[in-house]
Amino acid sequence: MEKSRAIVDDIVKEIEERVYSSHFDEELIKQFQETRKEIEDQVSRDFSREVPAKHISKIRTVLGEEFLEFLNQGKIGPIVWKGKERLKRIYKKLATLIELYLYYKKESEEKTLDVEHLKKVKDELIESQVSHVHEIETIDIPLNEYRLLVETILEPFEVAIKRIMGFLKVKQIEVFLFDDDNFLATEMKTDGETFIYNHEEEKHNLPEAISEVKLKEIKETTIDVPLVVEGKQVGHYRLNRMTSEAFNKESWIKEVERVTPVVARVIEANRNHLLARKVYIDDLTQMYNKRKLNEQMGKFFKQFKSGNKKLHITMVDIDKFKRLNDTYGHPVGDQILKKTADMIKEELPYSYRYGGEEFAGIFYGYDRETTMKKVEGLRKRIESTPYVINGQNYRITISAGIAEFETHMNSVMDAIDRADQALYASKEDGRNRCTDYDAIKDRLSADAAKLRQEIMQLKEKMKKVQKENKSLSKQATKKESSKEA
Ligand code: GH3
Ligand code: MG
Ligand code: MG
Repeated sequence: MEKSRAIVDDIVKEIEERVYSSHFDEELIKQFQETRKEIEDQVSRDFSREVPAKHISKIRTVLGEEFLEFLNQGKIGPIVWKGKERLKRIYKKLATLIELYLYYKKESEEKTLDVEHLKKVKDELIESQVSHVHEIETIDIPLNEYRLLVETILEPFEVAIKRIMGFLKVKQIEVFLFDDDNFLATEMKTDGETFIYNHEEEKHNLPEAISEVKLKEIKETTIDVPLVVEGKQVGHYRLNRMTSEAFNKESWIKEVERVTPVVARVIEANRNHLLARKVYIDDLTQMYNKRKLNEQMGKFFKQFKSGNKKLHITMVDIDKFKRLNDTYGHPVGDQILKKTADMIKEELPYSYRYGGEEFAGIFYGYDRETTMKKVEGLRKRIESTPYVINGQNYRITISAGIAEFETHMNSVMDAIDRADQALYASKEDGRNRCTDYDAIKDRLSADAAKLRQEIMQLKEKMKKVQKENKSLSKQATKKESSKEA
Protein backbone atom coordinates (compact mmCIF):
# COMPACT_ATOMS: atom_id res chain seq x y z
CA MET A 1 0.00 0.00 0.00
CA GLU A 2 2.85 2.32 0.86
CA LYS A 3 4.15 2.12 -2.66
CA SER A 4 0.82 2.60 -4.38
CA ARG A 5 0.15 5.59 -2.19
CA ALA A 6 3.55 7.04 -3.09
CA ILE A 7 2.78 6.63 -6.78
CA VAL A 8 -0.52 8.45 -6.41
CA ASP A 9 1.23 11.20 -4.49
CA ASP A 10 3.83 11.52 -7.25
CA ILE A 11 1.19 11.84 -9.93
CA VAL A 12 -0.71 14.41 -7.90
CA LYS A 13 2.47 16.44 -7.49
CA GLU A 14 3.35 16.20 -11.13
CA ILE A 15 -0.11 17.38 -12.12
CA GLU A 16 -0.05 20.25 -9.69
CA GLU A 17 3.23 21.45 -11.16
CA ARG A 18 2.12 21.10 -14.72
CA VAL A 19 -1.33 22.57 -14.31
CA TYR A 20 0.31 25.97 -14.05
CA SER A 21 2.80 25.60 -16.86
CA SER A 22 0.82 23.74 -19.50
CA HIS A 23 -0.29 24.81 -22.89
CA PHE A 24 -3.22 23.40 -24.75
CA ASP A 25 -2.42 21.09 -27.63
CA GLU A 26 -5.39 19.67 -29.52
CA GLU A 27 -3.37 17.32 -31.62
CA LEU A 28 -1.77 15.83 -28.56
CA ILE A 29 -5.12 15.27 -26.86
CA LYS A 30 -6.49 13.48 -29.89
CA GLN A 31 -3.46 11.28 -29.97
CA PHE A 32 -3.81 10.46 -26.29
CA GLN A 33 -7.47 9.62 -26.70
CA GLU A 34 -6.66 7.17 -29.46
CA THR A 35 -3.89 5.57 -27.50
CA ARG A 36 -6.10 5.32 -24.49
CA LYS A 37 -8.73 3.45 -26.47
CA GLU A 38 -6.12 1.13 -27.91
CA ILE A 39 -4.78 0.33 -24.49
CA GLU A 40 -8.24 -0.27 -23.05
CA ASP A 41 -9.19 -2.58 -25.93
CA GLN A 42 -5.97 -4.54 -25.63
CA VAL A 43 -6.44 -5.11 -21.90
CA SER A 44 -10.05 -6.13 -22.51
CA ARG A 45 -8.87 -8.74 -25.01
CA ASP A 46 -6.27 -10.00 -22.54
CA PHE A 47 -8.98 -10.37 -19.93
CA SER A 48 -11.38 -12.38 -22.04
CA ARG A 49 -10.75 -15.39 -19.83
CA GLU A 50 -8.79 -15.41 -16.56
CA VAL A 51 -6.64 -12.68 -15.06
CA PRO A 52 -3.47 -12.77 -17.21
CA ALA A 53 -0.17 -13.36 -15.47
CA LYS A 54 1.61 -10.57 -17.31
CA HIS A 55 -0.78 -7.98 -15.87
CA ILE A 56 -0.45 -9.44 -12.41
CA SER A 57 3.29 -9.10 -12.68
CA LYS A 58 2.99 -5.47 -13.85
CA ILE A 59 0.62 -4.64 -11.03
CA ARG A 60 3.09 -6.26 -8.69
CA THR A 61 5.99 -4.24 -10.08
CA VAL A 62 4.20 -0.90 -9.95
CA LEU A 63 2.05 -1.23 -6.86
CA GLY A 64 3.99 -3.78 -4.86
CA GLU A 65 3.44 -7.27 -3.51
CA GLU A 66 1.59 -5.95 -0.51
CA PHE A 67 -1.05 -4.36 -2.70
CA LEU A 68 -1.71 -7.69 -4.43
CA GLU A 69 -2.01 -9.41 -1.10
CA PHE A 70 -4.63 -6.92 -0.04
CA LEU A 71 -6.43 -7.48 -3.28
CA ASN A 72 -6.40 -11.25 -2.96
CA GLN A 73 -7.69 -11.08 0.57
CA GLY A 74 -10.64 -9.36 -1.05
CA LYS A 75 -9.54 -6.09 0.44
CA ILE A 76 -7.87 -2.92 -0.71
CA GLY A 77 -7.33 -0.73 2.26
CA PRO A 78 -10.66 -0.71 3.97
CA ILE A 79 -12.70 -1.56 0.91
CA VAL A 80 -14.02 -5.07 0.86
CA TRP A 81 -14.66 -6.60 -2.51
CA LYS A 82 -17.21 -9.29 -2.97
CA GLY A 83 -17.08 -12.17 -5.39
CA LYS A 84 -14.66 -13.47 -7.96
CA GLU A 85 -16.19 -11.61 -10.87
CA ARG A 86 -15.89 -8.34 -9.04
CA LEU A 87 -12.27 -9.10 -8.18
CA LYS A 88 -11.59 -9.82 -11.82
CA ARG A 89 -13.15 -6.51 -12.81
CA ILE A 90 -10.92 -4.74 -10.32
CA TYR A 91 -7.88 -6.49 -11.71
CA LYS A 92 -8.91 -5.45 -15.18
CA LYS A 93 -9.42 -1.86 -14.16
CA LEU A 94 -6.10 -1.80 -12.38
CA ALA A 95 -4.35 -3.40 -15.35
CA THR A 96 -5.80 -0.71 -17.65
CA LEU A 97 -4.71 2.03 -15.29
CA ILE A 98 -1.24 0.59 -14.95
CA GLU A 99 -0.88 0.29 -18.73
CA LEU A 100 -2.03 3.90 -19.11
CA TYR A 101 0.18 5.02 -16.30
CA LEU A 102 3.21 3.30 -17.81
CA TYR A 103 2.41 4.76 -21.19
CA TYR A 104 1.97 8.31 -19.91
CA LYS A 105 5.06 7.99 -17.80
CA LYS A 106 7.09 7.09 -20.88
CA GLU A 107 5.43 9.80 -22.92
CA SER A 108 5.93 12.40 -20.28
CA GLU A 109 9.65 11.86 -20.47
CA GLU A 110 9.56 12.71 -24.16
CA LYS A 111 6.66 15.11 -24.62
CA THR A 112 4.76 17.76 -22.82
CA LEU A 113 2.20 16.03 -20.67
CA ASP A 114 -1.46 16.29 -21.39
CA VAL A 115 -2.63 17.56 -18.08
CA GLU A 116 -6.29 16.73 -18.49
CA HIS A 117 -5.63 13.11 -19.27
CA LEU A 118 -3.10 12.68 -16.59
CA LYS A 119 -5.53 14.16 -14.15
CA LYS A 120 -8.10 11.62 -15.16
CA VAL A 121 -5.65 8.78 -14.71
CA LYS A 122 -4.79 10.16 -11.31
CA ASP A 123 -8.45 10.30 -10.36
CA GLU A 124 -9.07 6.77 -11.43
CA LEU A 125 -5.97 5.47 -9.78
CA ILE A 126 -6.92 7.08 -6.51
CA GLU A 127 -10.46 5.91 -6.95
CA SER A 128 -9.33 2.36 -7.42
CA GLN A 129 -7.80 2.51 -3.98
CA VAL A 130 -10.20 4.84 -2.25
CA SER A 131 -13.39 4.55 -4.21
CA HIS A 132 -15.01 7.31 -2.25
CA VAL A 133 -12.36 9.93 -2.86
CA HIS A 134 -14.87 12.15 -4.65
CA GLU A 135 -17.08 12.29 -1.65
CA ILE A 136 -14.25 13.78 0.33
CA GLU A 137 -13.23 16.09 -2.46
CA THR A 138 -16.63 17.74 -2.35
CA ILE A 139 -15.73 18.99 1.09
CA ASP A 140 -13.82 22.17 0.68
CA ILE A 141 -10.74 21.61 2.78
CA PRO A 142 -7.04 22.24 2.35
CA LEU A 143 -4.97 19.60 0.62
CA ASN A 144 -3.03 18.56 3.70
CA GLU A 145 -6.14 17.88 5.68
CA TYR A 146 -7.65 16.12 2.74
CA ARG A 147 -4.62 13.84 2.58
CA LEU A 148 -4.96 13.14 6.29
CA LEU A 149 -8.56 12.10 5.78
CA VAL A 150 -7.73 9.87 2.83
CA GLU A 151 -4.98 8.31 4.88
CA THR A 152 -7.41 7.72 7.71
CA ILE A 153 -9.66 5.76 5.42
CA LEU A 154 -6.74 3.59 4.40
CA GLU A 155 -5.80 2.76 7.99
CA PRO A 156 -6.92 -0.42 9.75
CA PHE A 157 -10.28 0.00 11.45
CA GLU A 158 -9.13 0.52 15.05
CA VAL A 159 -6.42 2.99 14.02
CA ALA A 160 -8.84 4.95 11.83
CA ILE A 161 -11.42 5.26 14.61
CA LYS A 162 -8.76 6.37 17.04
CA ARG A 163 -7.64 9.08 14.63
CA ILE A 164 -11.20 10.24 14.10
CA MET A 165 -11.60 10.56 17.85
CA GLY A 166 -8.51 12.74 17.80
CA PHE A 167 -9.93 14.98 15.04
CA LEU A 168 -13.18 15.44 16.95
CA LYS A 169 -11.57 15.66 20.38
CA VAL A 170 -13.97 13.16 21.92
CA LYS A 171 -13.33 10.50 24.51
CA GLN A 172 -15.90 8.07 23.23
CA ILE A 173 -17.63 7.02 20.04
CA GLU A 174 -20.67 4.80 19.74
CA VAL A 175 -21.69 3.38 16.39
CA PHE A 176 -25.06 1.92 15.44
CA LEU A 177 -25.31 0.14 12.11
CA PHE A 178 -28.33 -1.08 10.21
CA ASP A 179 -28.53 -4.62 8.96
CA ASP A 180 -30.14 -5.41 5.60
CA ASP A 181 -33.62 -4.80 6.96
CA ASN A 182 -32.79 -1.32 8.27
CA PHE A 183 -32.69 -2.73 11.76
CA LEU A 184 -30.07 -1.32 14.10
CA ALA A 185 -28.22 -4.56 14.58
CA THR A 186 -24.54 -3.88 15.07
CA GLU A 187 -23.18 -1.63 17.75
CA MET A 188 -19.77 -0.63 18.88
CA LYS A 189 -18.55 1.56 21.68
CA THR A 190 -14.97 2.65 22.10
CA ASP A 191 -12.79 4.87 24.20
CA GLY A 192 -10.05 4.41 21.62
CA GLU A 193 -8.39 1.63 23.59
CA THR A 194 -11.14 -0.88 24.21
CA PHE A 195 -13.60 -1.73 21.47
CA ILE A 196 -16.82 -3.20 22.79
CA TYR A 197 -19.11 -4.69 20.18
CA ASN A 198 -22.87 -5.16 20.53
CA HIS A 199 -22.89 -3.65 23.98
CA GLU A 200 -26.58 -2.79 23.85
CA GLU A 201 -27.61 -6.32 23.05
CA GLU A 202 -28.82 -7.14 26.53
CA LYS A 203 -30.79 -3.96 26.99
CA HIS A 204 -34.50 -4.17 26.33
CA ASN A 205 -34.80 -0.90 24.49
CA LEU A 206 -33.20 -0.87 21.10
CA PRO A 207 -31.63 2.47 20.27
CA GLU A 208 -33.92 4.64 18.23
CA ALA A 209 -32.87 5.04 14.59
CA ILE A 210 -32.18 8.68 13.79
CA SER A 211 -32.12 10.37 10.43
CA GLU A 212 -30.97 13.91 11.22
CA VAL A 213 -28.35 15.51 13.44
CA LYS A 214 -29.62 15.66 16.98
CA LEU A 215 -28.05 17.55 19.86
CA LYS A 216 -28.78 16.84 23.51
CA GLU A 217 -27.26 18.86 26.33
CA ILE A 218 -27.47 17.88 29.95
CA LYS A 219 -24.18 17.44 31.79
CA GLU A 220 -22.56 16.51 28.58
CA THR A 221 -23.36 17.28 25.01
CA THR A 222 -24.52 14.26 23.06
CA ILE A 223 -24.64 14.45 19.33
CA ASP A 224 -26.17 11.78 17.10
CA VAL A 225 -25.12 11.95 13.49
CA PRO A 226 -26.51 9.86 10.60
CA LEU A 227 -23.98 7.90 8.60
CA VAL A 228 -24.69 8.13 4.89
CA VAL A 229 -22.76 6.36 2.15
CA GLU A 230 -23.58 7.01 -1.49
CA GLY A 231 -26.91 8.51 -0.55
CA LYS A 232 -27.97 5.59 1.59
CA GLN A 233 -28.09 5.76 5.36
CA VAL A 234 -26.12 2.91 6.94
CA GLY A 235 -26.70 3.87 10.57
CA HIS A 236 -25.57 6.62 12.89
CA TYR A 237 -22.90 7.44 15.42
CA ARG A 238 -22.93 9.18 18.77
CA LEU A 239 -20.39 11.46 20.38
CA ASN A 240 -20.25 12.74 23.93
CA ARG A 241 -18.46 15.85 25.17
CA MET A 242 -18.52 17.37 28.61
CA THR A 243 -20.52 20.59 28.31
CA SER A 244 -18.45 22.25 31.01
CA GLU A 245 -15.39 22.00 28.79
CA ALA A 246 -14.61 25.25 27.08
CA PHE A 247 -15.43 24.70 23.46
CA ASN A 248 -17.18 26.43 20.68
CA LYS A 249 -20.22 24.35 19.93
CA GLU A 250 -20.89 25.76 16.47
CA SER A 251 -17.41 25.17 15.19
CA TRP A 252 -17.33 21.76 16.78
CA ILE A 253 -20.52 20.72 15.00
CA LYS A 254 -19.04 21.99 11.75
CA GLU A 255 -15.99 19.87 12.42
CA VAL A 256 -18.20 16.85 13.09
CA GLU A 257 -20.06 17.38 9.83
CA ARG A 258 -16.81 17.69 7.94
CA VAL A 259 -15.40 14.45 9.28
CA THR A 260 -18.66 12.49 9.11
CA PRO A 261 -18.28 11.30 5.48
CA VAL A 262 -14.94 9.82 6.51
CA VAL A 263 -16.49 8.18 9.56
CA ALA A 264 -19.25 6.80 7.35
CA ARG A 265 -16.72 5.38 4.91
CA VAL A 266 -14.57 3.83 7.60
CA ILE A 267 -17.58 2.24 9.26
CA GLU A 268 -19.19 1.02 6.06
CA ALA A 269 -15.94 -0.33 4.66
CA ASN A 270 -15.50 -2.28 7.87
CA ARG A 271 -19.07 -3.55 8.00
CA ASN A 272 -17.85 -7.10 7.45
CA HIS A 273 -15.26 -6.68 10.15
CA LEU A 274 -17.94 -5.46 12.54
CA LEU A 275 -20.31 -8.27 11.62
CA ALA A 276 -17.55 -10.83 11.88
CA ARG A 277 -16.95 -9.59 15.40
CA LYS A 278 -20.57 -10.32 16.18
CA VAL A 279 -20.22 -13.89 14.99
CA TYR A 280 -16.88 -14.66 16.55
CA ILE A 281 -16.83 -12.69 19.78
CA ASP A 282 -18.45 -13.77 22.98
CA ASP A 283 -20.51 -10.87 24.33
CA LEU A 284 -19.84 -11.31 28.03
CA THR A 285 -16.07 -11.75 27.93
CA GLN A 286 -15.29 -10.12 24.56
CA MET A 287 -13.24 -13.23 23.91
CA TYR A 288 -13.22 -15.37 20.79
CA ASN A 289 -15.86 -18.09 20.98
CA LYS A 290 -16.01 -21.78 20.11
CA ARG A 291 -16.84 -21.03 16.48
CA LYS A 292 -13.58 -19.10 16.14
CA LEU A 293 -11.70 -21.87 17.94
CA ASN A 294 -13.03 -24.45 15.51
CA GLU A 295 -11.99 -22.36 12.53
CA GLN A 296 -8.56 -21.44 13.80
CA MET A 297 -7.94 -24.92 15.16
CA GLY A 298 -8.65 -26.33 11.70
CA LYS A 299 -6.04 -24.03 10.19
CA PHE A 300 -3.45 -24.79 12.86
CA PHE A 301 -4.10 -28.53 12.48
CA LYS A 302 -3.49 -28.36 8.73
CA GLN A 303 -0.28 -26.40 9.24
CA PHE A 304 0.77 -28.81 11.97
CA LYS A 305 0.24 -31.83 9.72
CA SER A 306 2.32 -30.44 6.89
CA GLY A 307 4.99 -28.74 9.00
CA ASN A 308 7.30 -29.62 11.85
CA LYS A 309 6.02 -27.40 14.64
CA LYS A 310 4.38 -28.74 17.76
CA LEU A 311 0.73 -28.10 18.49
CA HIS A 312 -0.87 -28.27 21.93
CA ILE A 313 -4.33 -27.54 23.22
CA THR A 314 -5.40 -26.78 26.75
CA MET A 315 -8.87 -26.92 28.25
CA VAL A 316 -9.46 -24.78 31.33
CA ASP A 317 -12.45 -24.93 33.68
CA ILE A 318 -13.21 -22.79 36.72
CA ASP A 319 -13.50 -24.83 39.92
CA LYS A 320 -16.76 -25.04 41.81
CA PHE A 321 -18.25 -22.18 39.89
CA LYS A 322 -21.80 -23.29 40.45
CA ARG A 323 -21.29 -22.89 44.18
CA LEU A 324 -20.02 -19.34 43.64
CA ASN A 325 -23.09 -18.49 41.57
CA ASP A 326 -25.38 -20.04 44.13
CA THR A 327 -23.74 -18.18 47.01
CA TYR A 328 -23.18 -14.72 45.53
CA GLY A 329 -25.52 -14.61 42.57
CA HIS A 330 -25.15 -14.76 38.82
CA PRO A 331 -24.05 -11.11 38.32
CA VAL A 332 -21.02 -11.64 40.58
CA GLY A 333 -20.34 -14.85 38.65
CA ASP A 334 -20.44 -12.86 35.41
CA GLN A 335 -17.97 -10.27 36.71
CA ILE A 336 -15.57 -12.99 37.77
CA LEU A 337 -15.92 -14.73 34.43
CA LYS A 338 -15.03 -11.47 32.68
CA LYS A 339 -11.96 -10.85 34.80
CA THR A 340 -10.80 -14.44 34.50
CA ALA A 341 -11.21 -14.19 30.73
CA ASP A 342 -9.02 -11.05 30.72
CA MET A 343 -6.24 -12.92 32.53
CA ILE A 344 -6.54 -15.89 30.20
CA LYS A 345 -6.28 -13.55 27.22
CA GLU A 346 -3.12 -12.07 28.67
CA GLU A 347 -1.45 -15.34 29.63
CA LEU A 348 -2.22 -17.62 26.67
CA PRO A 349 -1.23 -16.97 23.04
CA TYR A 350 -4.61 -17.95 21.54
CA SER A 351 -7.58 -18.28 23.86
CA TYR A 352 -11.33 -18.84 23.52
CA ARG A 353 -14.44 -19.12 25.64
CA TYR A 354 -15.44 -22.70 24.99
CA GLY A 355 -18.76 -22.35 26.77
CA GLY A 356 -20.01 -21.59 30.30
CA GLU A 357 -17.00 -21.35 32.59
CA GLU A 358 -14.77 -23.35 30.26
CA PHE A 359 -11.99 -21.94 28.13
CA ALA A 360 -9.60 -23.34 25.54
CA GLY A 361 -6.10 -22.30 24.51
CA ILE A 362 -4.00 -23.15 21.47
CA PHE A 363 -0.21 -23.31 21.49
CA TYR A 364 1.38 -23.53 18.07
CA GLY A 365 5.17 -23.74 17.87
CA TYR A 366 5.67 -24.10 21.63
CA ASP A 367 7.35 -27.15 23.14
CA ARG A 368 5.60 -29.06 25.88
CA GLU A 369 7.58 -27.48 28.71
CA THR A 370 6.76 -23.94 27.66
CA THR A 371 3.11 -24.84 27.12
CA MET A 372 2.92 -26.38 30.57
CA LYS A 373 4.74 -23.40 32.08
CA LYS A 374 2.30 -20.94 30.54
CA VAL A 375 -0.79 -22.81 31.68
CA GLU A 376 0.73 -23.32 35.12
CA GLY A 377 1.55 -19.60 35.22
CA LEU A 378 -2.08 -18.80 34.47
CA ARG A 379 -3.27 -21.17 37.18
CA LYS A 380 -0.97 -19.55 39.74
CA ARG A 381 -1.98 -16.04 38.74
CA ILE A 382 -5.69 -16.84 39.07
CA GLU A 383 -5.15 -18.60 42.39
CA SER A 384 -3.39 -15.56 43.84
CA THR A 385 -5.64 -12.84 42.40
CA PRO A 386 -8.39 -11.55 44.64
CA TYR A 387 -11.46 -10.35 42.75
CA VAL A 388 -12.87 -7.22 44.30
CA ILE A 389 -16.55 -6.88 43.49
CA ASN A 390 -18.70 -4.29 45.28
CA GLY A 391 -15.99 -3.95 47.90
CA GLN A 392 -15.87 -7.68 48.61
CA ASN A 393 -12.97 -10.03 47.97
CA TYR A 394 -13.42 -13.29 46.11
CA ARG A 395 -10.92 -15.91 45.08
CA ILE A 396 -11.27 -18.71 42.59
CA THR A 397 -9.12 -21.49 41.14
CA ILE A 398 -9.02 -23.25 37.81
CA SER A 399 -8.24 -26.76 36.64
CA ALA A 400 -6.64 -27.45 33.29
CA GLY A 401 -5.74 -30.28 30.95
CA ILE A 402 -3.15 -30.23 28.18
CA ALA A 403 -2.80 -32.49 25.15
CA GLU A 404 -0.28 -32.59 22.35
CA PHE A 405 -1.41 -33.17 18.78
CA GLU A 406 0.01 -36.25 17.09
CA THR A 407 0.46 -36.62 13.35
CA HIS A 408 -1.64 -39.78 13.16
CA MET A 409 -4.68 -37.95 14.55
CA ASN A 410 -7.52 -37.61 12.08
CA SER A 411 -9.41 -34.84 13.73
CA VAL A 412 -8.96 -31.90 16.03
CA MET A 413 -11.45 -33.57 18.36
CA ASP A 414 -8.96 -36.36 19.10
CA ALA A 415 -6.73 -33.87 20.90
CA ILE A 416 -9.59 -31.93 22.48
CA ASP A 417 -10.89 -35.21 23.94
CA ARG A 418 -7.48 -35.92 25.43
CA ALA A 419 -7.22 -32.44 26.93
CA ASP A 420 -10.70 -32.98 28.37
CA GLN A 421 -9.64 -36.27 29.92
CA ALA A 422 -6.60 -34.56 31.43
CA LEU A 423 -8.85 -31.78 32.76
CA TYR A 424 -11.13 -34.38 34.27
CA ALA A 425 -8.11 -35.95 35.97
CA SER A 426 -7.22 -32.53 37.42
CA LYS A 427 -10.70 -32.32 38.91
CA GLU A 428 -10.50 -35.86 40.23
CA ASP A 429 -7.15 -35.21 41.86
CA GLY A 430 -8.49 -32.29 43.87
CA ARG A 431 -8.79 -29.33 41.40
CA ASN A 432 -6.55 -26.21 41.15
CA ARG A 433 -4.00 -28.05 39.04
CA CYS A 434 -2.88 -28.61 35.52
CA THR A 435 -2.50 -32.09 34.06
CA ASP A 436 -0.70 -33.24 30.96
CA TYR A 437 -2.49 -36.03 29.11
CA ASP A 438 0.75 -37.96 28.64
CA ALA A 439 1.27 -38.09 32.38
CA ILE A 440 -2.05 -39.84 32.96
CA LYS A 441 -2.11 -41.98 29.85
CA ASP A 442 -1.00 -45.04 31.82
CA ARG A 443 -3.50 -44.33 34.51
CA LEU A 444 -6.23 -44.00 31.90
CA SER A 445 -5.25 -47.25 30.22
CA ALA A 446 -5.12 -48.93 33.64
CA ASP A 447 -8.59 -47.55 34.25
CA ALA A 448 -9.67 -48.81 30.85
CA ALA A 449 -8.21 -52.27 31.57
CA LYS A 450 -10.07 -52.34 34.86
CA LEU A 451 -13.24 -51.33 33.08
CA ARG A 452 -12.75 -54.07 30.47
CA GLN A 453 -12.29 -56.61 33.23
CA GLU A 454 -15.48 -55.46 34.92
CA ILE A 455 -17.36 -55.69 31.64
CA MET A 456 -16.08 -59.22 31.10
CA GLN A 457 -17.17 -60.20 34.58
CA LEU A 458 -20.60 -58.70 33.96
CA LYS A 459 -20.90 -60.60 30.69
CA GLU A 460 -20.00 -63.83 32.45
CA LYS A 461 -22.64 -63.11 35.07
CA MET A 462 -25.23 -62.41 32.39
CA LYS A 463 -24.43 -65.66 30.60
CA LYS A 464 -24.88 -67.51 33.86
CA VAL A 465 -28.22 -65.84 34.54
CA GLN A 466 -29.41 -66.53 31.00
CA LYS A 467 -28.43 -70.20 31.39
CA GLU A 468 -30.27 -70.43 34.67
CA ASN A 469 -33.34 -68.81 33.14
CA LYS A 470 -33.30 -71.28 30.26
CA SER A 471 -33.13 -74.30 32.49
CA LEU A 472 -35.87 -72.86 34.70
CA SER A 473 -38.23 -72.36 31.75
CA LYS A 474 -37.40 -75.87 30.50
CA GLN A 475 -38.34 -77.28 33.85
CA ALA A 476 -41.57 -75.26 33.79
CA THR A 477 -42.62 -76.62 30.35
CA LYS A 478 -41.82 -80.13 31.50
CA LYS A 479 -44.11 -79.70 34.50
CA GLU A 480 -46.88 -78.24 32.31
CA SER A 481 -46.79 -81.14 29.83
CA SER A 482 -46.78 -83.78 32.60
CA LYS A 483 -49.86 -82.06 34.08
CA GLU A 484 -51.70 -82.18 30.75
CA ALA A 485 -50.90 -85.82 30.26
P1 GH3 B 1 -16.25 -28.10 38.81
O1 GH3 B 1 -15.19 -27.70 39.75
O2 GH3 B 1 -16.47 -29.58 38.81
O3 GH3 B 1 -16.04 -27.58 37.46
O4 GH3 B 1 -17.59 -27.47 39.38
P2 GH3 B 1 -18.51 -26.40 38.68
O5 GH3 B 1 -19.53 -26.00 39.65
O6 GH3 B 1 -17.68 -25.31 38.14
O7 GH3 B 1 -19.07 -27.22 37.46
P3 GH3 B 1 -20.46 -27.27 36.74
O8 GH3 B 1 -20.20 -27.61 35.33
O9 GH3 B 1 -21.38 -28.20 37.50
O10 GH3 B 1 -21.05 -25.82 36.82
C1 GH3 B 1 -20.69 -24.82 35.96
C2 GH3 B 1 -21.50 -23.62 36.34
O11 GH3 B 1 -21.10 -22.47 35.66
C3 GH3 B 1 -22.95 -23.79 36.03
C4 GH3 B 1 -23.43 -22.42 35.69
O12 GH3 B 1 -24.27 -21.93 36.69
C5 GH3 B 1 -22.16 -21.58 35.66
N1 GH3 B 1 -22.11 -20.75 34.47
C6 GH3 B 1 -21.98 -21.13 33.19
N2 GH3 B 1 -21.98 -20.05 32.37
C7 GH3 B 1 -22.13 -18.96 33.16
C8 GH3 B 1 -22.21 -17.55 32.89
O13 GH3 B 1 -22.15 -17.06 31.76
N3 GH3 B 1 -22.37 -16.72 33.96
C9 GH3 B 1 -22.42 -17.21 35.24
N4 GH3 B 1 -22.56 -16.35 36.23
N5 GH3 B 1 -22.36 -18.53 35.51
C10 GH3 B 1 -22.21 -19.39 34.49
MG1 MG C 1 -17.66 -26.78 33.55
MG1 MG D 1 -16.36 -25.73 36.61
